[in-house]
Amino acid sequence: MESTLRRTWAEINLDAIAHNYKVIRQKIGSDVKFLGVVKADAYGHGSIQVSKLLQNLGANYLAVSSADEALELRVNGITMPILILGYTPKEQVPRLIEYDITQAITCKAKADEYSAEALRCGGTLKVHIKVDTGMSRLGYLCDNDDFENGVKGIAEACTMPGLNAEGIFTHFAVADEFGEKADNYTKHQFELFTRVIKTVEDRVGHKFKIRHCANTGATARFPETYLDMVRPGLLLYGYGTFAKELGLRPAMTLKTTVSTIKIYPANTAISYGGTYVTEDTTRIGVLPYGYADGFLRSLSNKCSLYTKEGPAKLRGKICMDMCMIEMTNMPTVDVGSEVEIFGEKNSIDDLAECAGTIPYELTCAVSKRVPRVYYQNGEVVEKELMLRF
Ligand SMILES: *Cc1c(COP(=O)(O)O)cnc(C)c1O
Repeated sequence: MESTLRRTWAEINLDAIAHNYKVIRQKIGSDVKFLGVVKADAYGHGSIQVSKLLQNLGANYLAVSSADEALELRVNGITMPILILGYTPKEQVPRLIEYDITQAITCKAKADEYSAEALRCGGTLKVHIKVDTGMSRLGYLCDNDDFENGVKGIAEACTMPGLNAEGIFTHFAVADEFGEKADNYTKHQFELFTRVIKTVEDRVGHKFKIRHCANTGATARFPETYLDMVRPGLLLYGYGTFAKELGLRPAMTLKTTVSTIKIYPANTAISYGGTYVTEDTTRIGVLPYGYADGFLRSLSNKCSLYTKEGPAKLRGKICMDMCMIEMTNMPTVDVGSEVEIFGEKNSIDDLAECAGTIPYELTCAVSKRVPRVYYQNGEVVEKELMLRF
């Protein structure tokens, strides 16, 4: 483990996540519950570590995408409520009940299946009903002509034996986009959501304990959408425009080390395909960080990584396990020097823009070969390498 650490590693700053949690908590007030989205291994930060932190900080709920992700948390000492946002095969219902895990209900067919399965094993499954108000992904369709049918299906799910409909939620499609068109879209989604809730509650006399819809964009921009709980992911990890505006801190710093230095004459083609050709005598550093570690190959020749002498340009195609940077005018950057791929100095938002993607994809892409080193109160508290030995 130690020997791998000076290759390429991700520093996860738990203090930054705690800071971000507190700032968001301050913003939403004490009456609104906080659900931390920790799906996909907490966007690459480590779902067990992040969930433990949120549990200690007093967060109210966690969300993951699958039963496996939820069970991993339960097995590792997470006792707070967990909601599965995505698909769970009905065979898993007994385990969800046994481990007190909440499941999203996304349509009539799923409600029927889950109800029957819960009855069969003699338990009650806690569920949150998902309403599709315009994301066009999962959930009961309720817009326009579908309203009556949608409301009917949701009302049914509320009264089905074996199900306890604790919550209801929807997901915004463009809450993080600016302009009147996007704002109106979000407003319409929210208005429809609240209308569905009211109609269902009036019709069946069922009161949803937790109504929620605010993702990162809405948590930052639309306090009127908080209802009973907010549901941010990216904001908690401190990336994106809204995080910057709120003074949040990026949680992950990805670092690598210069492994080898070579000096090439002019007209030397670097890496596969020879896409970069030196113009002059050029000092190149080889970094043990490639697309198998999570570097998007589409960034080849496009971005800079951060050395102690400032940004160094990427030269040539990114390989599976390595990439090359130019360090011609950086004499103090030597073999063994640290290079920041993204983090406090090299903004992940800029890197994502350069790759034509979003910061979510870059932190999720950091592969299991990259050890995570956890910092709390400025000290290393845990090191994790996700390989089997
Ligand atoms: C991923 C996800 C979120 C969190 O989204 P962010 O943009 O990271 O805040 C919230 N709700 C649902 C249903 C999601 O799938």
